[in-house]
Amino acid sequence: MNDKQPISNMKIEIEQDSGFCFGVVRVIEIAEKILKKEGRLFCLGDIVHNSREVERLKKKGLRVIGYQEFNRLKDCKVLIRAHGEPPGTYLIAKENNIELIDGTCPVVLKLQQRIQEKYEELKTVNGQIVVYGKKGHAEVRGLSGHTDNKAIIIESPEDLQKIDTSRPLHIFSQTTKSLEDYQNIIGEIKKIYKSGSDRDIYLHCTNSICAQVSRRAPKIREFCKNHDVIIFVSGKRSSNGKILFGECRKVNGKSYFVSGGDEIKDSWFADAKSVGICGATSTPKWLMEEISEIIKKLSAINNS
Ligand code: SF4
Repeated sequence: MNDKQPISNMKIEIEQDSGFCFGVVRVIEIAEKILKKEGRLFCLGDIVHNSREVERLKKKGLRVIGYQEFNRLKDCKVLIRAHGEPPGTYLIAKENNIELIDGTCPVVLKLQQRIQEKYEELKTVNGQIVVYGKKGHAEVRGLSGHTDNKAIIIESPEDLQKIDTSRPLHIFSQTTKSLEDYQNIIGEIKKIYKSGSDRDIYLHCTNSICAQVSRRAPKIREFCKNHDVIIFVSGKRSSNGKILFGECRKVNGKSYFVSGGDEIKDSWFADAKSVGICGATSTPKWLMEEISEIIKKLSAINNS
């Protein structure tokens, strides 16, 4: 046991705005409704980037499948998650008599449509579509599919060499990226593009970061300032989980990333008077409440 222990009356607070965004709430509600009625449902990819929530739904009959299995399926229902899919997925479903239950988040759906329209428009002027996002991420694959996979994916400034600065360009962002990082990338692109009025003709930028994500960053920073220790709960593969955890670290050095209660160490709470618990848009509230209970028990044991 540590000589420095959690304080028995340690205050524990869960951030109000943390937890599922409306796109995730929506797709999980769709899945649960079908599972309740039919007891089984295929889902193309993890329904949410949180293994604990995926496990909970698997127990209710959700079967997570990959593309290989999807390509072999016939005459069944398959759920599309909030990240969305490229047009090819809809074609395969049509050919194989698969009923797609479309859980694509309305925000992503709108972005897919805008990117596709812009792609068609830019074709006439030999332009380029750029997506700032994580290569291989489900949403980015879906967005790129709406440009016949011609979109240039930019993950970091090193990728900017893929851009042809003599051609028009329109840049969008994956919905869950950091606004600050997106603005920095745009700043870098502006540097390499022609200056003056030509640049306004050639270069167009759309802020397509979801407000559910961008609004959380300042709130989470404020929350983290008000607590001695921060426990950030998220699946390790969650994009916005990584970004929001970065925001926690910016203002509170005692911020710890956990995916489950078994990763918590009591040494983190030495002399702490208050602990804040927060999470990503893919973190279930019940998991943050579970973590809160674990910390409460830890504090009680160490002070008994
Ligand atoms: S983060 Fe925004 S775009 Fe992504 S699923 Fe949630 S609400 Fe939709």
